Amino acid sequence: NVRVRFAPSPTGPLHIGGVRTALYNYLFAKKHKGTFILRIEDTDQTRYVANAEQYIIDALNWCTIPFDEGPEKDGGFGPYRQSERKDLYQKYANILLDKGWAYYAFDTSEQLDAHRKQHEAEGKTFIYNWHNREKGRLVNSLVLTDDEVHNRINAGENYVIRFKTPQDETLILKDEIRGTIKIETNTLDDKILFKSDGMPTYHLANIVDDHLMEISHVIRGEEWLPSLPLHSLLYRAFDWKAPKFAHLPLILKPFGKGKLSKRDGDKLGFPVFPLAYTNEKTDEVSRGYREDGYFADAFINMLAFLGWNPGTEQELFSLDELIKEFDLKRVSKSGAKFNPDKTKWFQQQYMQTKSDEVLTELFIPILNEKGIVITNEMKQSVSDKSYVQKVVASVKERAVFVEDLWELSSFFFEAPTEYDAKNTKKNWKEGTPELMQELIVVISEIEDFSSINTEKIIKKWISGKEIGFGKVMQPLRLSLVGKLAGPHLFDIIAMIGKEETIKRIENAIE
Ligand code: GLU
Repeated sequence: NVRVRFAPSPTGPLHIGGVRTALYNYLFAKKHKGTFILRIEDTDQTRYVANAEQYIIDALNWCTIPFDEGPEKDGGFGPYRQSERKDLYQKYANILLDKGWAYYAFDTSEQLDAHRKQHEAEGKTFIYNWHNREKGRLVNSLVLTDDEVHNRINAGENYVIRFKTPQDETLILKDEIRGTIKIETNTLDDKILFKSDGMPTYHLANIVDDHLMEISHVIRGEEWLPSLPLHSLLYRAFDWKAPKFAHLPLILKPFGKGKLSKRDGDKLGFPVFPLAYTNEKTDEVSRGYREDGYFADAFINMLAFLGWNPGTEQELFSLDELIKEFDLKRVSKSGAKFNPDKTKWFQQQYMQTKSDEVLTELFIPILNEKGIVITNEMKQSVSDKSYVQKVVASVKERAVFVEDLWELSSFFFEAPTEYDAKNTKKNWKEGTPELMQELIVVISEIEDFSSINTEKIIKKWISGKEIGFGKVMQPLRLSLVGKLAGPHLFDIIAMIGKEETIKRIENAIE
């Protein structure tokens, strides 16, 4: 029974790396007909950001990878916010104390600093573990009497509960991606599990909840790999069966070394968040893929490839195909370089695979925003979807984003108001206005105003005049489009209709 969780701390918007972790958990769950859980790890109140949880939920929904269980979606294992599970953790800290796997420590931060400095002076690193904990220099329940411990606690002294790491042991740990990892317990700190303010640390809360929520696989970022020894020991201490672990490779910046950061995005001009985000405190707005015009399916396809590959040449995968193909065995150990150009490539590919109907629906609001009313003789209007759909079909090939459609097709909806600087009417060759006047007459007499027929008649007329095609076609295109680019000219003529075509030529020569 596969149960996996995405367990973000609500400290700000979800970074690309976080969404990738969520995506892999989702794919793994769905592949194995399991459950994908969202757990909010909000025990660190100092870093809590109020709108972060909603942001995380919105981002998962936009990516079309919603959770099966989580806040407001109880599957019998709730609550799913650690702040609402607070009372539970004390009990488990006590179990470890009773079993001798944990102890109280009363050292102040000044005392700990002093120890650290003293060790440094001797050329050693200070580790709070068996080397030091029982030598009488540290103040904890391993060296104090029970009475002394109780008196200190009753007097309201600050304490922490630390894990008692076993000494002189070689741990052999297994990671589904990295294989076997060996680690000496003597290099480990006795990590803090619980604080006198009644709050557990990440380690205790995380293990207790993974156990109680019956998590079968922990799939998370590489930055948590150093916690694996402690987590494995905690499962042993509680006598619980540990889940399987898989640590995902880091997402690296496009150039140079290191983890991808928001600063890289700002510098190179790409978002590192799925959705735009407004910082509550500073009002600073960060860009998001959604607002930048990316399709969610293009975004997650790109994301899936940041650390995983199918082992074939295929790059375009629907969500269902990803679910089918995804395998932890094909997740790489080494970091995955983020590539903004490749991200754009995915978007472009998806733009081409979207149907004209779908793109039309997305384009209409943009047209409405531009206040477009169509008044050509075919009496088309923006509400005439078939017209918009034909426009979309003729220009989408060159679009990366839905927004681009306007730039590529505005002349289908309104006459050009400016003409390309290099080709202004003033630069028209001698005789061009007169030629255009003649053309107007030719056009006004065409009855079948289809693309094929207008092309035939106009070209025949040009041939008859024994002049180069460019002499007519260039000023005609300029009159209709405003620049010397765009789809097949006779398609445009047929689309906008006779009346509008003539009006635009008149506009251009007057
Ligand atoms: N709360 C941790 C985070 O913010 C969870 C790490 C884990 O998955 O164990 O990533």
